[in-house]
Amino acid sequence: METNRWHDSGIIPPDGGERILGGVIDYYAENREPRLLHPAWQKAAEEKLAQLEQKIGKKPNFFVFIMDDVGWGDMGCYGGGHVRGAPTPHFDRLAAEGLRLTSCYSQPSCSPSRATLMTGRLPIRHGILTPPMYGQPGGLDQEVSLAELLKEVGYATRAVGKWHCGENKSSVPQNKGFDEFYGFYGVSDMYTEWRDNYFYPEIVNDPFMFQAVMNAKFNKHNILAKTGQYDVPEIEQEEITLETVKDLDEKWAAYSESFIRSMATSDKPWFLYHGTRGCHFDNYPPDKFKGRSRASYPFTDVLVEMDDIFGRLFRALEETGQLENTLILVTSDNGPEMESWPDSSYTPFRGSKGTTWEGGIRVPGIFYWKGMIEPGQVSDGLFDFCDMLPTVCAMAGVENLPQDRFIDGVDQRSFLLAGPSPAGIYWAKDPSWMSNRAAVYAWLLDEQSALRVGPWKVYDCATEMDYRDTVTPGGFSGHTVHYTYGKVFNLFLDPKEEHSFAIRKLVYMPLLAAIKAHHLKTFDKYPKRIQIKGTSS
Ligand code: CA
Repeated sequence: METNRWHDSGIIPPDGGERILGGVIDYYAENREPRLLHPAWQKAAEEKLAQLEQKIGKKPNFFVFIMDDVGWGDMGCYGGGHVRGAPTPHFDRLAAEGLRLTSCYSQPSCSPSRATLMTGRLPIRHGILTPPMYGQPGGLDQEVSLAELLKEVGYATRAVGKWHCGENKSSVPQNKGFDEFYGFYGVSDMYTEWRDNYFYPEIVNDPFMFQAVMNAKFNKHNILAKTGQYDVPEIEQEEITLETVKDLDEKWAAYSESFIRSMATSDKPWFLYHGTRGCHFDNYPPDKFKGRSRASYPFTDVLVEMDDIFGRLFRALEETGQLENTLILVTSDNGPEMESWPDSSYTPFRGSKGTTWEGGIRVPGIFYWKGMIEPGQVSDGLFDFCDMLPTVCAMAGVENLPQDRFIDGVDQRSFLLAGPSPAGIYWAKDPSWMSNRAAVYAWLLDEQSALRVGPWKVYDCATEMDYRDTVTPGGFSGHTVHYTYGKVFNLFLDPKEEHSFAIRKLVYMPLLAAIKAHHLKTFDKYPKRIQIKGTSS
């Protein structure tokens, strides 16, 4: 028996989990995050999946459409769209006909989020605490990826677009479970900023400096590679320049569309991980979309392009009759980057990319599955990027997840699939109570920063913006502040986290402390790992 169980707080009676947290706490394995179990919904979800498999004759497909630095408030269905001068009709339709999450959590920046989605593990376990930049070593080579697990059970797998989970030979997508990869290894600005006279005149206008960057050991091309391939120039397509960068998303979209159409008649189920270049700074819209948004700025033009691309891929699924066997997730990898304004996105919450404030880690999350996910739902139930791996694996029939490491994700099948159900309890009509996740653990690099449980967000430390050294302060230009007595916010009453409630909510402290202690205790047996942390590694 473990000792640091949540019930030890005394706040949750042994049979009181449903009332306090929305489900029965299930400590089902030592190397797994406890999940909230809703037995009736779990059964309903599993039956739905079995019936579909019987009808279709194969396991479901998974389509992840992950954008870069698009904020919680950018799409129309999250309060943006027309308000931002960038209508997003395709995303809005998806939300209207699917499940729109209001509490979907990423990590504070690109690579930690993507690696977490790909491994089911928090950055403090996979070790990618910050994005690897300009050839920094590190990656997924010691991890087990979602694509590898799916490939083992017969899935066709494709990674398209942005990778940014390491570019060493064992970490690139074509060698990490994907049959084929078409995209770039890093992040958009790494290929363009030093080529742009507006940002780097000291490099652009100095042939010696320019050549030095060209010689730097990071790949500067759009890549097309099958499993096992790594050597350049065999896999290199065009070099990414200020001209060619404009059309990358269009080319990647064409590739994904072709893949989707080609799989319509296949016996194999598939996993498509499509990471867009947009809307990471700096945005260079293709000619077709330049000036097309009402706002006419590069960010908004590219947001409109992203919506259009998603619309094309959705249509390909629709026209080939694959919608009813495909789970779709549309999301973004972190909150807005504020240091690059006006080429940046929007969140109504406090903070931005790089922080553990809600603005940094609460991202859009729309799930859609025709006939499987009840249309038109909105839920504040917690969903963390690390939940994708166990959820998808459970749907795909992956029998065993790795036993030699801690998996932070929980199986969210019943949350996504069961829908509002007349289970006879008073909150049954509100899907917000149906998440299988009780807590979100927010780490700021290698420090446990905050914990969210229900509406409560409790901080030990967080990023303080520095308004003196930049006109557009953001997460990366801030510094970590440790709070003497902690801060407690109620996110329903105070979504912007401006009014700490700590002194009035002490009764919850034993419960929150017990949940946090349980989380921290997992590191005794499964130690932290730090491989990429800022510019220091
Ligand atoms: Ca990002």
